[in-house]
Amino acid sequence: MRTLVIGDHIVKSFGEGDEKRNVLNGVSVEINEGEFVAVMGPSGSGKSTLMFALSGTDGVNDGKIVVDGRDLSEMGENELSDLRRTTMGFVFQQPTMLKNLNVLDNIILPAMRDNRKNVATITKKARALMQRVGIAELEKRDITQVSGGQLQRAGICRALMNNPSIIFGDEPTGALNTTSAQEMMDLFSEINSEGTAIMLVTHDAKVAARTERIMFMRDGTIVSDLRLPKFNGTNMEDRVEKVTVKMRELGI
Ligand code: ADP
Ligand code: MG
Repeated sequence: MRTLVIGDHIVKSFGEGDEKRNVLNGVSVEINEGEFVAVMGPSGSGKSTLMFALSGTDGVNDGKIVVDGRDLSEMGENELSDLRRTTMGFVFQQPTMLKNLNVLDNIILPAMRDNRKNVATITKKARALMQRVGIAELEKRDITQVSGGQLQRAGICRALMNNPSIIFGDEPTGALNTTSAQEMMDLFSEINSEGTAIMLVTHDAKVAARTERIMFMRDGTIVSDLRLPKFNGTNMEDRVEKVTVKMRELGI
């Protein structure tokens, strides 16, 4: 299996002088192509910072990050944003959608930046994705006229527009009720089974238990890397139990 993302002793600090504090303390991590990973840990342990670092969204102070064979430190701002746009998709707790655009236009926005593609092709793709996640009838709606779960689905469509190799999700189910969260995980599992790697930050053992590997963070380091057996449709309770036991053991 090819390694898609490599983080090698990443150090990230905030503040200057006496105020300077390491938020990532030499984190090393590898994510393979097609892997489905969760990141858990107390609030402030560095989960979002790690995701921003690995995705090249935010620079680091030390260490090396390689994505799809490319060393991020050797790339200029434009190259980096091209790599992010073509290789990665992002889903957040609150989708960052533009209020003056309808659902469809928000979804096609990132793809429109690629001038090699035409609007008709892009729109067709967006409609197929919306169909797939069950929001086809909402394309003309204003984004203030859809539910939180529907908006998250639109966010997933947007993240998938450029066929990313990896989706980074920072607490994507954090604002959803249990049913919507599990529906969203069904969708992520499906996307993952088609070969897209996914890295999800979550506080929810039931969400993490849907992945195949969980990295636990504390104070800017990964303190445990738990691998779960493949999901076979009937071992969910067992998986949740494994995650819960580990969380208790680590005091998370
Ligand atoms: P988590 O996602 O695990 O809750 P974060 O990665 O968001 O944690 O933050 C880790 C630590 O880094 C926190 O103490 C937070 O206050 C600090 N931090 C994050 N971003 C910044 C920033 N831009 N400036 C200063 N401190 C920050
Ligand atoms: Mg966070």
